[in-house]
Amino acid sequence: MTIFSLQNRVAFVTGGNGGIGLGMAKGLAAAGAAVVIAGRNKQKAQSALSELRSTGAQAEFVELDAVKEVSCQQAVRRATEQFGRLDILVNNAGTTVRKQPEELTAQEWHLVMDTNLTSAFLCSQAAYPHMVRAGGGKIINIGSMMSVFASSYATPYAASKGGIVQLAKSLAVAWAKDNIQVNAILPGWIDTDLTRKAREQVQGLNERVLARTPAQRWGMPDDFAGIAVFLAAPASNFITGAAIPVDGGYSVQT
Ligand code: NDP
Repeated sequence: MTIFSLQNRVAFVTGGNGGIGLGMAKGLAAAGAAVVIAGRNKQKAQSALSELRSTGAQAEFVELDAVKEVSCQQAVRRATEQFGRLDILVNNAGTTVRKQPEELTAQEWHLVMDTNLTSAFLCSQAAYPHMVRAGGGKIINIGSMMSVFASSYATPYAASKGGIVQLAKSLAVAWAKDNIQVNAILPGWIDTDLTRKAREQVQGLNERVLARTPAQRWGMPDDFAGIAVFLAAPASNFITGAAIPVDGGYSVQT
C-alpha cells in the first residue's frame, strides 16, 4: 500500500451528497476507498452517487438527519453493514442561521449546534468501535474560518465551529491509544449552496472575500479532495489534533 492509497478502506461522509462533502468523497473514492454518503436530500444523493459511480467507485447512500441522535447512530451502523467495516469518518454536515445574536431563538441555536457539532460527536462515538476493530481509523471534522474568527451574524455557527476543533483535539488525545487520528479542516470561503445564500444575504461579502483571499478566488468543492485523502491515508499517521486551513491564504492575510 502506498502512503496515499485508500484501497480496502471504507469512508462515511456526512453531507457527502453535495458541496465540500462531495468534493471530499470524490477524492477519497479516487484514492480507492468505498464511500458512503449520508444526508437528507435523496435527489442530491442520487446525482452524487451517479457521479461517484461513473468513475468506477463503490458508493452508497444512507439517510441521515444529523440533528437526531438515533439517526446518527443508525446511519453509521447502516454504513458499516453496507461494506462490512468503517475506517474513515468525515464530519461535514453543516448549516447556519444568519441573524444578530439578540434575534436568535433557542431553537435556531440548537439547530446549528446539533447539526454542526453534536452530530460530529455522535457519529464519532458510533464509528469508534468499528475503527478499534479495524486496528485504527481516521476522523476528519470540518471547521471553518469561524473556528478562529468571530462572526456577528452567525453566533451559533462560530460557536459550533470553534467547538468542532476542540472536539477533534479531545478525541485525538483520547483515541490515540487506538491508532485513531482525528483532525480538522478549516475551509476558507467556498462556492457551495451554503455560501450562495450568504452572498445574497450579506451585503458586500463577495467583494470582501475576493479582496482578502490571496488566491483571489472562492474555493471550490474539488479543492478539498487532496486534504481529505491526505488526512484519511497512512501519509498522515503521525498527525493528530491538527486544524488545517484550506483557504487560499485567507487566514494568514493581515
Ligand atoms: P452545503 O450546503 O452544500 O452542504 C451542507 C451539507 O450538510 C449538505 O450536503 C446537507 O445535506 C448536510 N446537512 C445539513 N443539515 C443536515 C442534517 N440535518 N442532516 C444531514 N445532513 C445535513 O454546504 P458546504 O458544502 O459549504 O458545507 C459543508 C461543510 O463545510 C459544513 O460543515 C460547512 O459549515 C463547512 N464550511 C463551508 C464553508 C463554505 O464557504 N462553503 C466554509 C467553512 C466551512 P442535505 O442537503 O441532504 O441536507
